[in-house]
Amino acid sequence: MNVTTVSYQIYKQAQHDSIAIPLKMSKNIILFISLLLILSILPRTHATVKYSITNTATQTPGGIRYETQIGFKHSKHILKSSNLFIWRLFQQRIKAERANVTHVHLLIDDMDGVAYCENNEIHVSARYIANYKADDIDDDVKREFNGVMYHEMTHVWQWSGNGSTPGGLIEGIADFVRLKAGYIPSHWVQPGEGDTWDQGYDVTARFLDYCEGLRNGFVGELNKKMRYGYSVDYFVDLVGKSVDQLWSEYKAAYHL
Ligand SMILES: [Zn+2]
Repeated sequence: MNVTTVSYQIYKQAQHDSIAIPLKMSKNIILFISLLLILSILPRTHATVKYSITNTATQTPGGIRYETQIGFKHSKHILKSSNLFIWRLFQQRIKAERANVTHVHLLIDDMDGVAYCENNEIHVSARYIANYKADDIDDDVKREFNGVMYHEMTHVWQWSGNGSTPGGLIEGIADFVRLKAGYIPSHWVQPGEGDTWDQGYDVTARFLDYCEGLRNGFVGELNKKMRYGYSVDYFVDLVGKSVDQLWSEYKAAYHL
């Protein structure tokens, strides 16, 4: 059935009441159906990602705290917002630029540690949630959860140079995303602190933030370069200096 047929039928059915109104209606319907047709032929550049959440620790103090102080609704919001934030930061505007992921599953598990990501599943420790104590008045378990989620969601989308990127850089990028999202925990090192650039986590995240200051979009571009491999020379390619030189200049900038 094409557009003309639909509008005609509407007009015929309504013509006993009025001519003017059905004509207007049919125009709106043509517009609406045209819009549907346009949407259906648009390339799927914004393919959706399905999110699901499972609390496997409902009977534990952490599982209960998760449901009362964080909850499924908030988790779904954070899954989606962290995902979109990472695509923006990684400059992954179209599907071809991203990892082939269609489903991200969050699980709250009765386990040690904080969280990990494997096969697009983010596992967060219910015990960590149960024992989390805020450091200051602006902090709470929900804020900490958000930070953990930005870190873990980064692992879903970041490239690893086919497994050749140093682990410290992988973790540093995940914490850099957390930093940029505004969820820096109070226990982190201060800018300029740390022993080596690839120490990982907060140390590397702070260093990457320094590099980002030298070249806007640095981390996103570095990630793009790591799609199929890794070389320490990527730092030279992007900012014209070796990573060792950058690290010593970074330390010097903070008199450390
Ligand atoms: Zn990690």
